[in-house]
Amino acid sequence: MKLEGIHHITAITADAQSNVDFYAGTMGLRLVKKTVNQDNPTVYHLFFADEKGSAGSDLTFFEFPGVPPGRAGAGDVHRIVWRVASVAALDFWEERLAANGIETERAGGGLRFADPEGLAHELAVVEVADEPLIADHPEVPADHALRGFHAVCAYSGAPDASHSLLEALEFESLGEETWEARGANRGGLYVYEQPPEERSLQGAGSVHHVAWASTLDEHEQWRDRAISAGANPTPVIDRFYFRSIYFREPSGVLFEIATLGPGFTVDEPLEHLGEKLSLPPDFEHMRAEVEPNLRPVVNPRTVSAG
Ligand code: ZN
Repeated sequence: MKLEGIHHITAITADAQSNVDFYAGTMGLRLVKKTVNQDNPTVYHLFFADEKGSAGSDLTFFEFPGVPPGRAGAGDVHRIVWRVASVAALDFWEERLAANGIETERAGGGLRFADPEGLAHELAVVEVADEPLIADHPEVPADHALRGFHAVCAYSGAPDASHSLLEALEFESLGEETWEARGANRGGLYVYEQPPEERSLQGAGSVHHVAWASTLDEHEQWRDRAISAGANPTPVIDRFYFRSIYFREPSGVLFEIATLGPGFTVDEPLEHLGEKLSLPPDFEHMRAEVEPNLRPVVNPRTVSAG
């Protein structure tokens, strides 16, 4: 039994429209679901991914309008690493990001930058057999597109404290505080780095949690494994698009284990993902209440496609 890499990463934005402009516009991802935060249905939960809404490429945001910027510290995921196919893709992104007013830096063979709210990203040329998870964007050639997540980097001053839990979850140590969750189809890395001295402050641009992918069949067993290693997971929560458990790993990072399926096509067809406000059945009765309070967002991809 192995986890199938990263399922999704959830972060916080202060402004849904500029968030959609950046991720569905500049970064070329597809807005695959526009829904509400199920723990606070007065705010958006936006999901960006590849064309099919695949786990492994799914970056999601809670919108807390006007929340001040956060600051990553110990116990936070502070950088998201994406796969790209080639050095030519790094060149493409260096130019495209500059044209959109985003500063970049070449580091460790990759390209680093932050989104307009300070959420750090790195594009890395990674050769793996995993299926590339690509969105179609009119301005981003498929050869250069993001191909899904490679890693998340977290700050921890005492990563040793997390080793036994990671081992119970079948992460494999690759040395230098780099761990891999690799299943039959997909893998993803979890990397610890030394934290800055300043304390963590959650806000715009902060990562809220990272979810690792499980098959539907094995999900309950992962919960048992987490308990056996001393974690305190929630019961299985039905998020409608997938099922989830949550627990903090010893470094302080909030982990989720989410199922591969049912997926985003459970309530809208693939060709129309993310166009309307989707409310899971348990929330549908609140539509008249919540929809008028959510500021409408314009999807740049829909606009540019006419
Ligand atoms: Zn999640």
